[in-house]
This record gives sequence, C-alpha cells and structure tokens, in this order.
Amino acid sequence: MSFTKKIIVSMILGIIIGIAFNLTDLIESALGDYITSALDLISYIFLSSLKLIIVPLIFFSIVCGIISLSDDVSISRLGIKTLLSYTVTTVIAISLGLFFSSFISYEPIQVQDLDNTIDIGNIESDVSIFPNNIFKSLTEGNIIHLLIFAVLIGISASRIKGKIKTFIQYFYDFNDVINELVKIIISFTPLAVFCILAKTFSTQGIETIIPLASYFFTVVFVLLFHFFFTFSILLKLFTTLNPIKFFQNLKDVIIFTFSTSSSSASIPFTLRAANDKYGIDKSISTFTVPLGATINMDGTAIMQGCATFFLASLYGIDLGVSEIITIVITATIASIGTAGIPSAGIIMLTVIFTQIGIPLEGITLLLGVDRLLDMMRTSVNVSGDLCISCVVASSENKINQKVFNS
Ligand code: ASP
Repeated sequence: MSFTKKIIVSMILGIIIGIAFNLTDLIESALGDYITSALDLISYIFLSSLKLIIVPLIFFSIVCGIISLSDDVSISRLGIKTLLSYTVTTVIAISLGLFFSSFISYEPIQVQDLDNTIDIGNIESDVSIFPNNIFKSLTEGNIIHLLIFAVLIGISASRIKGKIKTFIQYFYDFNDVINELVKIIISFTPLAVFCILAKTFSTQGIETIIPLASYFFTVVFVLLFHFFFTFSILLKLFTTLNPIKFFQNLKDVIIFTFSTSSSSASIPFTLRAANDKYGIDKSISTFTVPLGATINMDGTAIMQGCATFFLASLYGIDLGVSEIITIVITATIASIGTAGIPSAGIIMLTVIFTQIGIPLEGITLLLGVDRLLDMMRTSVNVSGDLCISCVVASSENKINQKVFNS
C-alpha cells in the first residue's frame, strides 16, 4: 500500500473508531480511560518529535538555502514578494468570510445564557518582531526570530562563501542529518493520524455541531470556496501550473494538517511536500514555508470573519462600512499574529471582538465546533502557504515542472 493510502485508511479508521467510541459507554469505563491515554501518549510523542526538529530544520535549511541561492535571486525581492502575497490572500480570505456570512440570517440567541468562563489569560502579546537574544527566542520557540536570525547568518555566510568551505560543508551535512530524521518521524504518520483522530472524535463526537450548524457550514463553505476557487485563480493568473495537479499533490499534506491542527508542527511535512511533490527549489521553500506557517493563515482569517459576523448578528451589533474595514484590518493583523498551533485562532478572536465591541463571552459559544473547524482551517492555512510558494517559485523560475506534474 502506498504511503498516501496508508494515511487515508488510518484517517478513516481513526474517525470511525473515535465516533463509535464516543457513542458507547466504553469511553467512561476504566478500559476507555486506558485506551484514550494510550492514544494521547502516541499522539504526544509524535507531535513532540515534530516540534523538536522544527528549530534545527528551519535554521539549517534556511542557511543552506541562502548559501545555495544563485545570484539571480535576491533575498529582499523574495521577502517582499512573499510577504505581499501572504497579506493579499489573507485580506481576500477575510473578505470572503464576511461576504458570504452576510447572506446568512442567524437565529437570535438568548445572550444571557452564555457561559462567562472563557479563559483568555494566555494571549501572547509579544510584538517585538526583531530578535535581540537568539537563545531566549529559541527557548520561546519564536519562529519569526529564528527566521530572521537564519536569514542574517545565511547572508553573511554567502558573502564569504569562498573562504569558509569547511563551515559550509558542515552546514550541508547537518542539514542532511536533520532531513533524515524528518524522514524517520514522518514514516510514523499513519499511526499518529489514527491516534490523533480517534482521540479527538472519541472525546468530541459529532453532535457538538448541531446547535451551531449555520455558522459551522458557512465557515466550511467559505473554506472550500477559498481553497478551490482563490487558489486556482492565483495559480492560473501567476503561474503556468495546472491547478488540478496542485490539489492532487496536496493529499498527504491535508490529511496531516487535518489531524494535527497545527501549521507549525506541519512545517517538516510541508517542506518535504514542497520539494518532493511540487518541485519547488529548496532556496525558495525553506523561506516561504516556515514564514507562511507562522504568518499566513487564510483559513483562520475566514473563520475569524465568519465568527465576527455571526456573533455581531447574535448580539444585535450593526456592522457598517467602518466596522467592516476595522474587521478586515484587525483580522489580517490577528491572523498574522496567530501561532500555528491548535485553537490559537479562536483565542486571537478576542483582538477583533475587542475592536468591534462584541462581548468576549461569545467565544465560548463557538468552542463546541472549533476543534473540527480548526482541522479544516489549518489545512487551508497550509495549502495557502504551498500555493504562494508555487507562485513565488514560478516567478523566480525555481520550480521543477516535471516533479510538479509527475
Ligand atoms: N490551528 C491553526 C494553525 O495552526 C491556527 C488556528 O487556530 O486557526 O494554522
């Protein structure tokens, strides 16, 4: 069985067994406890191993990528192009969320029924983009700081390439070792996908969706629309690549992001797909993929647009042009600031709600369906990173069309 088929089978089995488990009393028994702990442990080890390699993977691959960058690709041009594309797609995503939500009339709710207990004490409010202590940034897992540091080391090393051949060789060797480790960890994906999904569905079930059906399905619809429509248009307009092939190549990545709900944990996986499936040159993907996983969150932006509209209607808050503009701007900034980890997007909603004056307790209402939506929006987030990576790589002539089409 191919690797992709193995992952798909594990995913289906995980969902079915998880739901079956949730419907029986087994989940409450001692055996149920034992099984969920075992599923938890395997998921935890797998996700931790992925997180473990993110820092060295990004660091070595960016430094090596920049050293091997041919003189015709300027790092500042690459940076501007990538940042601009990520911002534009995020703005499109939020606008789609707001646009489609405006067609839905939501049933009013009894606001006083809302639970007041949301814990929003954990919001990261670190706005210092530029690192001043790389060791502190590393222990905090700050990917943007790591990216900046790696780019600076890469630029400095490539300026004196001729003099430091041994140093450069060491970097390439380390890079190979890390890539081998990525290969080993990724070979456990089918097992991990099964455990993560079985655990999620056994504890959440699917009945949580029902009370919030219209919000849930609006978000799902806009996610699908953005995924199929916006990404195809971008590829058609800015590349000569076949969008259908783009979607076919995404299969493994989507299953992975669906299971983990984490753009950051998916970085090693996405990077491999960028190189092996899309034929994107490493000098481009090592920059665009980690950056995208950190700042480009189209799916999150869609959820934030829909959630804002949904709760504003429920609370009877009118959204005029100035509120809409505020939402687009705040949601763009909020989705850039959202960490690529599960549920980060819903926490960042507090930023938008505060701007618009929507009571923060409203967020508790959305929590029931958020786990499932998180799986889907993370898949759109990472697909967006790959789409823009293809666009940027094509514009630099750094994509191997044979690999992309194979
Ligand atoms: N889980 C999402 C991600 O990692 C972030 C979010 O909660 O929207 O991309």
